[in-house]
Amino acid sequence: MMKIEIPNEAAGVGKALQEAGFEAYFVGGCVRDIILGRIPKDWDIATNALPEDILKIFPDSVYENDFGTVGVKMVDKENESITRIVEVTTYRIEGKYTDKRHPDAVKFAKTIEEDLSRRDFTINALALKCDTEARTPSKIIKELVDPFGGQDDLKKNSIRAVGNPEERFSEDALRLMRAVRFATELDFSIELNTRRAIEKYSHELVLIAKERIRDEFVKIMMSPNATKGILLLEELNLLASILPEFREGIGVAQNHHHIYTVFEHSIRSLDYTAKKNYSLEVRMAALLHDVGKPRAKEGAGVDTTFYQHEYIGAKVAFKILDRLRFPKEFVDKVTHLIRRHMFYYNVGEISEAGVRRFLVRVGPENIDDLLKVREADRMGSGVKKAVPYKLRHLLFMIEKVKKDPLSPKMLKVNGEDIMELLSIVPGPRVGWVLSSLLEEVLDDPTKNEKEYLLERAREIGILSDDVLKEAALRAREKKDEFEAGTNEEIKKKYYVT
Ligand code: ATP
Ligand code: MG
Repeated sequence: MMKIEIPNEAAGVGKALQEAGFEAYFVGGCVRDIILGRIPKDWDIATNALPEDILKIFPDSVYENDFGTVGVKMVDKENESITRIVEVTTYRIEGKYTDKRHPDAVKFAKTIEEDLSRRDFTINALALKCDTEARTPSKIIKELVDPFGGQDDLKKNSIRAVGNPEERFSEDALRLMRAVRFATELDFSIELNTRRAIEKYSHELVLIAKERIRDEFVKIMMSPNATKGILLLEELNLLASILPEFREGIGVAQNHHHIYTVFEHSIRSLDYTAKKNYSLEVRMAALLHDVGKPRAKEGAGVDTTFYQHEYIGAKVAFKILDRLRFPKEFVDKVTHLIRRHMFYYNVGEISEAGVRRFLVRVGPENIDDLLKVREADRMGSGVKKAVPYKLRHLLFMIEKVKKDPLSPKMLKVNGEDIMELLSIVPGPRVGWVLSSLLEEVLDDPTKNEKEYLLERAREIGILSDDVLKEAALRAREKKDEFEAGTNEEIKKKYYVT
């Protein structure tokens, strides 16, 4: 067992409680992590002091919720700019869970053992007396409060419910998912009776608040073992309550480009991003990039097609992520990556202007992530190629055109210039003229000269509203070589994937 330093601020909170005559124990995740030799994320303390006692001992603290948890603010002794919140919770037991989500009442308890009995899994129901004296790992083990055999389960790599598993899952259905989360994060297996109880109560996960489900789901996705978690959710019949749309890909065979079904391919793509430790956005886009395929599927066997699946997929992903209450920026980013994951590029076929339009459409800030999703897509298809020459060439082209003007802001004329030149007031016409000018500059960046652009603006400026508007819209929608769905030949060759 690795020796873990208990941070000053956490030890300090425990000591202060003890000096005021109360009991104080480290509980939950931090004790589990110490024994596993992992660095705990946070240090939670359980005590027999009541919330009002805790507030008296630590005036600079906040009463966080109705469940007897007080957040104590502690300043790090060595680095005063660091303040940490140590959560101190009064021993409690929970009353009945009539709605399977919240206990009807929270009752304070007298002993640490009672408090441990309300916790979800044996490995999370361990307590260690707060003590500032340095202790050897073997002494720590001797002092553990472990009424449910948590240490033994830690040795066996086993997730086991505290007490009667059926009761525990029927009290709080989020625990169904937490079992999978811990099995994933710790790479443990779920003990048989616990597993059976999860299967029996799996349908009750739908009763749980989407935010709580999301938080556990994110933890599963961020584990290097993310795919184990998703497969376990499916095995235990929980995935149906979280990502029903994603399950549509189960058993959906593809065409001669693919050896895997849509479901398997998506899982393998996720696995690649998790092993690479990519961001949550990239992992989510990798998992869901083909979520539109089952609905886009036409034909059968080697000639199956999935036209427009990236657009359908972006819509399906929006529904999933919005339902799970992910923040808007996150949803926008992931759906954008999905919508754009089918870009086409081949050396010699795409002009610099095409690469510029690609950059405008994807957004320079999203290019890295889009290429990661594409990498995952390729690696997940089972054809293990290194980053192919084509993609390296695209990167080279992007590098080359990156500094060219790509947005109206980068033009050598601005809205003011246009209004003055054409004697018009602010309004959509100004934007339409700028869009038309940008189109020309995207084709040829040497045209970004004030004199030339003003001259063109004067010519464009005499057009009627309707004509101008249409030209600007057409420009925006202009499909070029990168866009899926333009050229039937290219589509046949490359877009059947
Ligand atoms: P992590 O290191 O990921 O934070 P953790 O074990 O600390 O893991 P938390 O969700 O922070 O997990 O919960 C802290 C502790 O509170 C758990 O270890 C467990 O004892 C208890 N707990 C949390 N949620 C539940 C629940 N739904 N039912 C029963 N006990 C729970
Ligand atoms: Mg925790």
